[in-house]
Amino acid sequence: MVMKLQRYDLTVKYKPGKEIPMADTLSRVFPDGHEARDEPDLEEQVHTVLVNIPISDVRLEMIRQDTKQDKVLEKLIRVMCNGWPEKRKKLCPELQGFWPVRNELSIHTDIIFMGDRILIPKAQQAEVLEQIHQGHLGITLCKRRAREVIYWPNLDLDIESLVKKCETCQTFQKNNAKEPLTPWNTPSRAWQRLATDIFHFEDNHYLIVVDYYSKYFELVQLTNLTASIVIWALKTILSRHGVCEELVSDNGPQFSCSEFQCFLRDWGVRHIPTSPHHPQANGLAEKYVGIAKSIIRKAQSSGQDVYLGLLNYRATPMDGLCSPAQLLMGRALRTTVPIAPHKLQ
Ligand SMILES: [Zn+2]
Repeated sequence: MVMKLQRYDLTVKYKPGKEIPMADTLSRVFPDGHEARDEPDLEEQVHTVLVNIPISDVRLEMIRQDTKQDKVLEKLIRVMCNGWPEKRKKLCPELQGFWPVRNELSIHTDIIFMGDRILIPKAQQAEVLEQIHQGHLGITLCKRRAREVIYWPNLDLDIESLVKKCETCQTFQKNNAKEPLTPWNTPSRAWQRLATDIFHFEDNHYLIVVDYYSKYFELVQLTNLTASIVIWALKTILSRHGVCEELVSDNGPQFSCSEFQCFLRDWGVRHIPTSPHHPQANGLAEKYVGIAKSIIRKAQSSGQDVYLGLLNYRATPMDGLCSPAQLLMGRALRTTVPIAPHKLQ
């Protein structure tokens, strides 16, 4: 009701029931099967309400400040308030780039939005581009990430030229290729079936755990290769996201030993060992070993933080749908890229 009344400016006064016979009658003849969800514009209202939540995010505060100081955006706001001309040509050249999205622009708490994407002022664009590019995901994934949350005219072109100039992205271009579909049938919900594997990369051992449903993966660096360390690493992951029903792994000594089997039985997990004659059967874990290695390698080669690389991978929508984090946790993760607060709910 609060949301429905958002668009009206009303004053509520108390009156005893005997003075308002009509309202009392109507409250008793509520139409059948009429639910608030049927309201076509309710979603829009929800959106407005959420966007108007006081914004405390430091990053958004910077965007708010730079929006106020940006000369082009000052003109843009004036046009948005006074109305758009009939033809694009009548706009000053700096504003013409906004013409195609003119009907989707709005202002909330001194930040300009295009739909629910934040319009980034010029002064912040270079930094935001760097944040989008963290993890070196390549052109397609960088664009997909950006399109979810931020906007400025020529955003796509700016991403393209940045990625084309980036040595790390160019060197590892093959790893940014589209991922092939896995032959395994996808389970019906998140964290039901997991794949795990141990791998060695540049003097370190890692345990990787991938969720078949969300493709979210966890990575733990192992201090040694004993079964107890592998069990410890798995416990830290399962205590965080819950216990899976099935765990797919190869027949490595850590997974086939009685200590590990005992742990799985205690925690109520069914073990699905893959056949040594069909190494491809653990294809999902192997594919993500490749992805994890490429994230670590890219971070090292560009001097960036490997954890930001992992975060960005988890927060990037796959195939234009949801990000692994959204599929697993039911919410978007806050990254270094600015985002409208309601998108984090
Ligand atoms: Zn790059």
